Amino acid sequence: MRRSVAFGYRPRAGGRCVAAALGVALAAGSAAPAAAAADPPRDPVAAGRGGAISTVDPTATAVGLRVLREGGNAVDAAVAAAAALGVTEPFSAGIGGGGFLLYYDARTGRIQTIDGRETAPAAVDEKLFLDAAGRPLTFAEARISGRSVGVPGTPRVWQDALRRWGTRSLAQALAPAADVAERGFAVDETFRSHIAQNATEFAQFSATRDLYLPGGAAPAVGSVQRNPDLARTYRLLGAAGTDALYRGPVGADIVATVAHPPLAADRPPWPYPIRPGALTAADLAGYRLHHPGPTYARYRDLDVYGMAPPSSGGVAVGEALNILERTRFKRLPRVQAVHRYLEASALAFADRNRYVGGATPKATAKALLRDDFAASRACLVDPARALAKPVAPGVLGGTAATCPRAPRGGSPLEGGESTTHLTVADRWGNVVAYTLTIEETGGNAMVVPGRGFLLNNELTDFTFAPSQGAAPDPNLPGPGKRPRSSMSPTVVLRDGRPFLALGTPGGSTIITTVLHVLLNRVELGMTLPAALAAPRATQRNTAEVEAEAEFLALPEVAGLTALGHRFRERPEIGAATAIEFGPRAAMQAVAEPRRRGGGAAAVVRTR
Ligand code: GLU
Repeated sequence: MRRSVAFGYRPRAGGRCVAAALGVALAAGSAAPAAAAADPPRDPVAAGRGGAISTVDPTATAVGLRVLREGGNAVDAAVAAAAALGVTEPFSAGIGGGGFLLYYDARTGRIQTIDGRETAPAAVDEKLFLDAAGRPLTFAEARISGRSVGVPGTPRVWQDALRRWGTRSLAQALAPAADVAERGFAVDETFRSHIAQNATEFAQFSATRDLYLPGGAAPAVGSVQRNPDLARTYRLLGAAGTDALYRGPVGADIVATVAHPPLAADRPPWPYPIRPGALTAADLAGYRLHHPGPTYARYRDLDVYGMAPPSSGGVAVGEALNILERTRFKRLPRVQAVHRYLEASALAFADRNRYVGGATPKATAKALLRDDFAASRACLVDPARALAKPVAPGVLGGTAATCPRAPRGGSPLEGGESTTHLTVADRWGNVVAYTLTIEETGGNAMVVPGRGFLLNNELTDFTFAPSQGAAPDPNLPGPGKRPRSSMSPTVVLRDGRPFLALGTPGGSTIITTVLHVLLNRVELGMTLPAALAAPRATQRNTAEVEAEAEFLALPEVAGLTALGHRFRERPEIGAATAIEFGPRAAMQAVAEPRRRGGGAAAVVRTR
C-alpha cells in the first residue's frame, strides 16, 4: 500500500492543467501537450493528522486538501471540493442538483444536517410521470425531459454550510474550482465513459453537445477539458451570492431550459418526445433548505447518525443495524453473517418503501428506529432459510410477540448509479459527510446554455405510480414535495467522539453499501480499506440478490444459495469514501480503490 508522502499534492512532470488550476507556480511557457496533463495523486488510503479528505476524484481531493492546509476547516474544504467535483465529475453532481450534508461540530459534540434535496415545482401532481392514458412513462422518457427537474438545492447548501460553520466566503470556496474549470483538467476514463454512456442523450441538446461531445464524440482520455461557462457561473455566485441562481439570471436560464429544452437542430433519433417541465421563477425563489435532526441508532457501543427524510438512508441503515444487533456475529460462520445482513436489508427496505417519503412525519421515522419495532422484524429471520422476497412491511406499533407475517409487498427501486460522496475532517476535529447528486449519471442531459452545468432529473426518484397495493405510497409526486432519497451520509461516534464517517453513491444500493461497509469494519474484522474494497452484494427486498462478480466468486455463495438466496450479477456497486478516527487525533482517509476508476484520499500531515 502506498502511503504518507504520496498524499500531499505534488505537481508531476507535465501536470500543467491541474497544477495551474490549483495555483501551483509553473515555469513560464510550460505548455505541455494536452495528453501529458497529469492528475494529482490518486491514492486510496492516507493516514496522518491535522485533517483528512476523501473524494472520488484526485483534483477535488487536492482542492480540499489545500484548503485544509491553508487553515480552512472541514466545511470550507468540503464546499471547495464539492465545487471541484462539479467541474471534474459533473455527471454525478453539481449546482444543478441537490444533496445532504452531515456536520459533526467538535466544540459542541453535536451533529447537524442540511437537507438540500431538490423540490418539485408547485404545478406538479401525482400524474407527473403518467402518459395521457394514465400509464407510467419509461424511465428514459421521464428522465430526458423538463418534467424530471427539481429545484436545485446544492448552491444553497454550500452557502448555508459556509455561513453556519465555515470560515471562508462562498467566493473563496468556489475560486479553486472556477480556476480548474477555466484552465482545464485532464480527462480520465471515468469522465470519458460517463459521456460515452450518455452520447445519444447529450447529443439531443445543443449546449450539452458543444461542451461534452467535441467533434461529435466523447473526448479522449488525457485531452484537456475546459468549462469557461461554469467558471463564470461560479464567479457570479461567489460575487452575487446564490440569489443569482434563485432569484436572478442563472435561475431565469434554468426556467427557460426546462420550459423550452434547447434541442440541437441536427440531433440523432430519440424514441420519445422531449417534454417541457413546469418549473417557474417562483419555484426557485421559494426554495428552502431544511435542517432536520439526524437519525440515530445505537449499535452496540456505537452511536450511528444518518440523514432523516426525505432521505430514507438514515432510517433504513438504522433499522437494519437495530435488527442485526440481535445477532452475535463473532460466533457465526461467514455464510450466516452474510445471510443476516441480506435479510436485515430486505426487511428494512420493505419498511422504507412502505413508510418513508418526502413528507414522512418525524414520528414515523422515529417509530421505524425503535428497538421494539426492530424486534418485530428480527424475529422473522430464519437461520435455516431465506425469507421469500419481497417481504411485507412491518406494522408500526407491532411487537416482537406478534411477529407478524403480513402479505408480501412490492418494492420499487428508484435511483441510478450517479451521485458522489465526500468525507472531510479538520485539525479541530470537525467532520463533514456530504453526499450530493444530480440523480442519473448525466442528470436530465440538459446543460443550461451559457452556464456550464447539467440539470438534475431528481424527480424520477418519486414512484411513478402507486406501489404499495391498498396502502398509501409515501413517495408519489406532489407540489413542493421532495422525492425520497437513499443517500446516506453517516457519522459514527464511540464514547462521544468520531469513530467513522462515510457515504457512497449508488442509488438505492447506497443504503446496503453503507451497511455492508459498517458490518465489514465493525463485525467482520476488516480494516477500513478492506471494508471499502470488499466485494458487494445488495438485497433490497427483491427476488434476487444483486452482487458483483467478485462476490459471486466467494466461497460462501454456495451456502447462501443453499439457504434459498438467489443471485444475479451486477457491475460495480457504489464508490465509497470514509475516514476513521484513531487515538491522539490520528485519521485514516480511505477512498474506493477500484470502482469508478478509484478515488483519492489525503491527509494534511502524514505520520
Ligand atoms: N437519486 C438517488 C438518491 O437520492 C441517488 C442517485 C444515485 O446514487 O445514483 O437516492
